[in-house]
Formats: sequence, C-alpha cells, structure tokens
Amino acid sequence: MEKYDVIVVGAGPAGSTAAYYISGLKVLIIDKSDFPRHKACGGGLMSSRDWHLELKNYAKIKDKLTAYSCSSIKIYWNCEYIANRRFKHLFDQISRYEFDNLLLEEALKKDNVTFLKFDLQKIEKMSLKGKSGYTISDGEKNIFATYLVGADGVHSKVSKFLGNPALKSHQTGYCLECDIVCEKKDLDVHVVAGYLREIGYGWIFPTAEGYQVGVGIVRKPGRDLQYYLDNFIKWTIKKKILPEQHEIKRTFGGALPLKVVKTYCTNNIMLCGDAMGLIKVLTGEGIYYAMRSGKIAGLTLSQNRDNLKKNYKKKMRPLIWDTFLTPYIPPKIFTLAFWTLFFRVAKIFDRLTVLRGLNVFVDFFMRMAMHRKKFQGQSYYRDEKIKIEKY
Ligand SMILES: Cc1cc2nc3c(=O)[nH]c(=O)nc-3n(C[C@H](O)[C@H](O)[C@H](O)COP(=O)(O)OP(=O)(O)OC[C@H]3O[C@@H](n4cnc5c(N)ncnc54)[C@H](O)[C@@H]3O)c2cc1C
Repeated sequence: MEKYDVIVVGAGPAGSTAAYYISGLKVLIIDKSDFPRHKACGGGLMSSRDWHLELKNYAKIKDKLTAYSCSSIKIYWNCEYIANRRFKHLFDQISRYEFDNLLLEEALKKDNVTFLKFDLQKIEKMSLKGKSGYTISDGEKNIFATYLVGADGVHSKVSKFLGNPALKSHQTGYCLECDIVCEKKDLDVHVVAGYLREIGYGWIFPTAEGYQVGVGIVRKPGRDLQYYLDNFIKWTIKKKILPEQHEIKRTFGGALPLKVVKTYCTNNIMLCGDAMGLIKVLTGEGIYYAMRSGKIAGLTLSQNRDNLKKNYKKKMRPLIWDTFLTPYIPPKIFTLAFWTLFFRVAKIFDRLTVLRGLNVFVDFFMRMAMHRKKFQGQSYYRDEKIKIEKY
C-alpha cells in the first residue's frame, strides 16, 4: 500500500495552501477533479492588495493572474437603492479555473508534494507497521497516511468522518452564478441584499471579459434557484447595468457553509476552508479564510505536531472570530426583519446630511467586510487606513 506522512484531501485554495506550507513531510494532495477545474464562485479576492504580505504562494502567482480590480460598490435592499461607496481598492475579481490551478502548480513545485486524481469515498483508522494513521479509499485503491488535512469543501467527507452532522438549511447558502461575456460600461460592483425578499444577496462583479452575476440565498429558497437568477439578470438589464447584448458563457451552482463545524481537529486530522465552515457570514467570502486556514494547518503540521489539536485550535481562534462570530451567533438571528430595518435606517442616515457622518450602518458594514482582524502590521486595510468615500 502507498504510504505518506500527510494526505491533503481537496486541491482548492485551502488544500493547495496547506500542501505549500508543509515542510519535512511527504505529502499527497488528492482531488476528485482533474485540474484546471471550475468552481462556483464570484471570484472576488477581498482586500487582496495585501495578501502577498502573509500568503507566500499568493505572492508567487499574483502577477500571473488575470484579475479585474474593483474599487466602487452600489448597495441595494430588495432592488431599492441604498448607498454607494468608493475605495482605493475593494477586491480583485479572478477566475477560479485559473486561480486554483496556479495555486496547485505552486504547491507541486515543492519536492515533498505530489498530486493524484482520487475521489475519496471512505476513511478508516488503522495501524501500519506499528504506526497509527488512516487509510483512504476510492473503492478500488487504498492509501495510508499518518495525518489527514480535510480541505474537501462544503460537503466534506473528512468532516463527516470526524462526526460532524450535515449543515441545516439555515446554515447553508444556496448559490447559482454565471459568467457573462459582453461589453463592459458599468464598472461598479452591485450588491442587492434581500433580493426578492430572501435572505442573502444578488451580485454583479465586473470581470476581465464582462460580468459575473449570481444569487445566494440562505435557507432552502422557495423556488428553483434558476428562477431567481433569471429574474435577477432581467433586473440588471432593466437597470442598464448589464447590456441587452450579452452571452451567458457558463452557469454553475454551489453551496456555502455558514457555520464552523464542532470538531475541526484531532491530534491527526485537521479541517480547513469550507470543510470546516470558515466563511465570513456577512459576505459569503471564503477564499481568504480557506488559504489562511490552509497556511495554519501546514505550519502546525510542520512545526507543532506534538500537540496538534491544541496548537491548531489556538492558532485558528482569531481567524474564526474574524468570520464575524459565526460559531457563536446562530445565523437564525439575521432574519428578513433584521436586515430590512438595518438597510432602511442605513438609507435614512445616508440621505440626511446631518446624520451622514454618523453612518455607522453602511460604513460599518463595509469595514466589517474588508477588515482583517489579526492581520494588521503594514496592511493597507487597517481600520484607520480604509478610506471610504461617497460618490
Ligand atoms: C456561488 C459562490 C460564490 C462565491 N463567491 C466568493 C467570492 O466572491 N469570494 C470569496 O472569497 N469566496 C466566495 N465563495 C466561497 C469560496 O468559493 C469558498 O469559500 C472557497 O472555494 C473554499 O475553498 P476550499 O479550498 O475550502 O474548498 P473548495 O474550493 O470547494 O475546494 C475543495 C476541493 O475538494 C475537492 N473534493 C471534494 N470532495 C472530494 C472527495 N471526496 N475526494 C477528493 N476531492 C474532493 C473538490 O473537487 C475541490 O477541488 C463563493 C462560493 C460560492 C458557492
């Protein structure tokens, strides 16, 4: 039987980053897909101007990436315009097809890392020559490793093996997105919260070749997701954001985990990224958290293996807090009534000159979305440096 020190399950941003940061151990990274592969995602790398300062693998790929830089946003509540804001930089929009492949290539440049297309079906605890570990199987082949890193996304089999139950519908974002090729005139990011009175939002991100349009809804939506997306695209055309002449290149569905799982590590297994439910609940942002948790998993395995569980938990805690209290505040409290009140008050504050300087609503919302709690230092995204302008 093939034997490794570590098997990283999943070659998305979490898995590739974990593999990149593991040193001194023989690593196999597996994925059920051939790369490059598409992944349902808006592709917004929030606050990415500073990522190279803390993520070495991102620093290596950033100049090779085809990215579209976005710096202004218009916010709506159920199609009603609320406010706009401009920044020096908001996010870079990238294609996950290209991004994930570049990250995997970077991990595979390391001598200790290899890749195998392998659809994990089963995990078993076992001992091999007196060494305890795990065998993974795809139904035909078995591979052994002492440690597992579960970076296999929202429907993680590694997380299930650790006993975590499937997410409930109020802990899940149901999403459908499409890539649109067209002439691009409107360069703003548009975010339509509470679209058709569902919790979640519709988004329009300018991309290198047109727009990325999508809808994400928390709790199982009342109708088919395609209905919301079609309806949303019609609205964006009516608003003259999207031109009548456009081509929908690809439509893709996916889910977002909105709760950190109860057991995300033991002394031999660590979860990261979507597999552990590490998503900023306010925005649905997950790429940064996937990479940061991958880095922490990789470094912990390389440097602090003796008490893996304790060390990983200690390093993960600030990152979990940064995702806006998801493990502690049940998403249930963010009801439609809560958000309706929030955006209505935000709109009033934005319109009345006397209250404008006090618009803690829109500005707080934006700061929460962009700010990195534990990553300050030289960062341009430190609270006091985020310049927010109305236009
Ligand atoms: C529609 C949508 C829009 C989004 N927009 C944004 C955005 O704009 N910005 C942002 O930051 N985040 C966004 N996210 C969230 C972001 O996509 C995720 O948080 C991110 O992809 C998590 O990375 P990951 O590496 O943990 O998991 P993934 O990227 O999901 O990678 C998991 C990998 O594991 C593999 N895998 C799964 N099961 C197995 C198995 N059994 N055996 C082998 N391999 C397996 C998969 O093939 C996959 O390659 C969005 C999500 C959705 C659904």
